[in-house]
Amino acid sequence: MLEDKNQQRTSLEALGEFGLIDHLTQNFKLKQPSSLVGVGDDAAVMDYKGQKTVVSTDMLVEGVHFDLSYMPLKHLGYKSVMVNLSDIYAMNAIATQVTVSLAVSNRFPLEALEEFYEGVALACELYKVDLVGGDTTSSNKGLIISVTAIGAADENDIVYRKGSKPNDLLVVTGDVGGAYLGLQVLEREKEVFKVNPNSQPDLEPYSYIVERQLKPESRKDMVELLQKLEVKPTAMIDISDGLSSEILHLCKQSEVGCNLFEDKIPLDPTVISTCEEFKMDSTMVALSGGEDYELLFTIDQADFPKIKANPNLTVIGHMTQQSEGVHLITRAETKIPITAQGWNSFNE
Ligand code: ADP
Ligand code: MG
Repeated sequence: MLEDKNQQRTSLEALGEFGLIDHLTQNFKLKQPSSLVGVGDDAAVMDYKGQKTVVSTDMLVEGVHFDLSYMPLKHLGYKSVMVNLSDIYAMNAIATQVTVSLAVSNRFPLEALEEFYEGVALACELYKVDLVGGDTTSSNKGLIISVTAIGAADENDIVYRKGSKPNDLLVVTGDVGGAYLGLQVLEREKEVFKVNPNSQPDLEPYSYIVERQLKPESRKDMVELLQKLEVKPTAMIDISDGLSSEILHLCKQSEVGCNLFEDKIPLDPTVISTCEEFKMDSTMVALSGGEDYELLFTIDQADFPKIKANPNLTVIGHMTQQSEGVHLITRAETKIPITAQGWNSFNE
C-alpha cells in the first residue's frame, strides 16, 4: 500500500493513441452471442434477438470516487466494471457488454493502464461480459473513468424501482455497511502512513470490509437465484448510496411507505466489531454508508416461502400505505423517520 513499486515506466506518448487502444484491448475476445462487432470500428454492433436492451453509465473521478494511494489500479478496473454491472442486475437483467472510457494524464505510464485493464479483464471474464468499445483521451491531472454497461432481458422480466405495493416484503441480499467501514480503515491507515512512512498496516482483521471497499462484487448470482426460485421482485434497486437513500427511492417511485426493522439489518461480524472500535453506530453505517452493491427489492408476501430458507436473502421490513411514511423501527421499538442521508452527510 502507498508505495512506489519502482517498476518499468513506458510513457503513453511512445505508443500514440491508437497503439495504446490496440495494446490495451488486444486480448479481449468477444464471447457473448449478442456481440457482433466490438472494438475497432466506429461503433460496436449488437443483436439482442427480440430482448429489451438495458443501458447504464457511471463515472469515477480520481479524488472524488477513488484515491490511488490505497486503491490498486487492478482493483479500480474491476470495481469500475462492477459498479456498472450492478445497475444492470438491479433491473433483473443480465449484463452482456461494457464500454470503458478513460481520461488519463501523462503521469500514468503504460504499465499503470495495463494494470487497470487487468482488472477490467478479470471482471469481464468472471461476469461474462464483452468489452466492445470505449474512448481514450488525455486529462490535465487526474484519472477519470466512465464505464457503460449494456444488458438484455425479456420485457416481462425487467424490474423497476416502481412496482412495490403495501404489504410487500422488503428484502436485501448479502450484508451492508462493510464497504463504508472498509474505507474508514483505509483512510485511517493513510493518515498513519503520512506520519510514519515505515509503518506496516495490519489490515488482516479488516480483510472482509477492506475487500468490500476495494474489490466489490455485483450480485449477478442473486438475479440468477431469483430466477431459479421463480421469484420476480415487484421493485428493485442496487445499494450504491446506502440503505436509507435506496429505500426512499423505492418508496417514492412506487408511491408506498415502509417499515424497516433495525434488528433485521444483516451485518457482518467485522462490521459490528469495527463499528465498536470506531465508536460508530452500526445501524447508521448500514443506512448511510454506501458502495455495498447489494440488491434491495420487494416481493409479494406469497413468495416468502420461496426465499425464506436462503441465507443470502434477508427480509428487513415491509411496505405500507404511502401516507404512513418511511420509518426505522428500532430495537427499542421506537419509530424514527428515515431521511435521505446519503453518503455525503457522513463526510463531516
Ligand atoms: P473515434 O475517433 O471514432 O472515437 P477511437 O479511436 O476513439 O474512435 O476508437 C477506436 C475504437 O477503439 C473504437 O472501437 C472504440 O470503441 C475503441 N476504444 C477506444 N478507446 C477505448 C478504450 N479505452 N477501451 C476500449 N475500447 C476503446
Ligand atoms: Mg473516440
